[in-house]
Amino acid sequence: MASSPAQTEFYQAVEEVLESLEPLLEQSPHYRDSRIIERMVEPERQIMFRIPWVDDQGQVQVNKGYRIEFSSALGPYKGGLRFHPSVNAGIIKFLGFEQIFKNALTGLPIGGGKGGANFDPKGRSDQEIMRFCQSFMNELYRHIGPNTDVPAGDIGVGAREIGYMFGQYKRLTGRYEGVLTGKGLLWGGSLVRKEATGYGCVYFASNMLKAHGDSLEGKTCLVSGAGNVAIYTIEKLYQLGARPVTCTDSSGTLYDSRGIDLETLKLLKEHKRVSLREYLNEFPHAEFIPVGEYPEDGHAVWRFQADAAFPCATQNELTVADARALLANGCRCVSEGANMPSTPEAVEVFIAERIHYGPGKAANAGGVATSQLEMSQNASMQRWTFEQVDQQLQAIMADIYTRCSETAKEFDQPHNLVLGANIAGFRRVADAMLEQGVV
Ligand code: NDP
Repeated sequence: MASSPAQTEFYQAVEEVLESLEPLLEQSPHYRDSRIIERMVEPERQIMFRIPWVDDQGQVQVNKGYRIEFSSALGPYKGGLRFHPSVNAGIIKFLGFEQIFKNALTGLPIGGGKGGANFDPKGRSDQEIMRFCQSFMNELYRHIGPNTDVPAGDIGVGAREIGYMFGQYKRLTGRYEGVLTGKGLLWGGSLVRKEATGYGCVYFASNMLKAHGDSLEGKTCLVSGAGNVAIYTIEKLYQLGARPVTCTDSSGTLYDSRGIDLETLKLLKEHKRVSLREYLNEFPHAEFIPVGEYPEDGHAVWRFQADAAFPCATQNELTVADARALLANGCRCVSEGANMPSTPEAVEVFIAERIHYGPGKAANAGGVATSQLEMSQNASMQRWTFEQVDQQLQAIMADIYTRCSETAKEFDQPHNLVLGANIAGFRRVADAMLEQGVV
């Protein structure tokens, strides 16, 4: 891989995968000989574009947009769009790379892609968000299609943004088709898509625990994030009898020993879009720790007593010191709703200590899997019930767990689901690439 500057997260993701693949490459050298890895780490296509738009003061603003079409070995490119000021080419590339293996693990016919913009939606009016989304789509529309590339949401992109982008796509092309997932329920969206990543991440944890005769019932849980994934992780944890006591946002960490009040959380983050600090107005017994008061070597959220942890905010939000604190406080299960939330050193600790550790590319695959169910419903003009989709999601998460766990056993590291996920995902993509020839 030719090295490029400023792609730290991408190299981190690639290194983790390559390390896990060592035993496979020893057993099956044809993967090395056919230079599959060199082909896989190079995206099929990367698009970078200008997004000019007009703010409420009449000023022209300009942002950078990205879409990376990484691998179409298994199907149309599929992966979310992220709107966050930290977005750059390296972040989109790491997310796109992870997406290839995640999508392969679902067993569904979807390739890997990702996109986004360095746009900060915070404090922007609805009208500004709409104008930005329309301008983003003015370029993106020529690269996507229901059988070529089907983007979805990610950080900063939810139902509102998908709606504005879909409206603009329709206007530009004159076509009403399943070109985006995470759509509104009135116009082609699937039930359970909104809940899917969070629910799936909890189902994955349940599967890990069940395999060892345990369950989430009665367990105290730490959750980070306060967005789409975190909210529905918390909702499912309550449904399964667990008690989630934390959540976080970019302003700080909220701790409520009685359990986070879900309705208040939804009101603050899905409707009002304000800081978690406002939770204290309603529940003064809770504690709020601002980011400025976090420990120097990590994050306040991972320093509370708990049985299980669900990192659901962003990459590298759980350091090695956080990992040690979790273990010291009795945590034996970590299921990742976010993409690459644990640093490589933290992952090493989880694996060395043999806790139940579900890496993001396996544990958070429920979102993309349900996106594919949305594509299926759109293509067949059907609409399935909540129960039908939820049952499929549960079956898919159970299959992903089995795939990772069986592969880890095959390579004599039964506790190492990182190795299991990477090898199982890689084999499916690599075999498809080999069968399709050098293209
Ligand atoms: P949202 O935008 O809905 O929520 C993100 C949450 O994390 C917000 O509470 C946000 O704080 C916080 N956050 C984001 N970036 C940072 C940061 N740099 N530092 C501190 N806090 C931060 O995004 P999602 O819930 O959709 O995504 C969360 C994670 O899950 C991401 O890693 C994403 O890639 C991954 N994921 C999402 C899927 C989906 O279906 N949505 C599917 C698979 C993975 P604030 O409220 O202040 O903005």
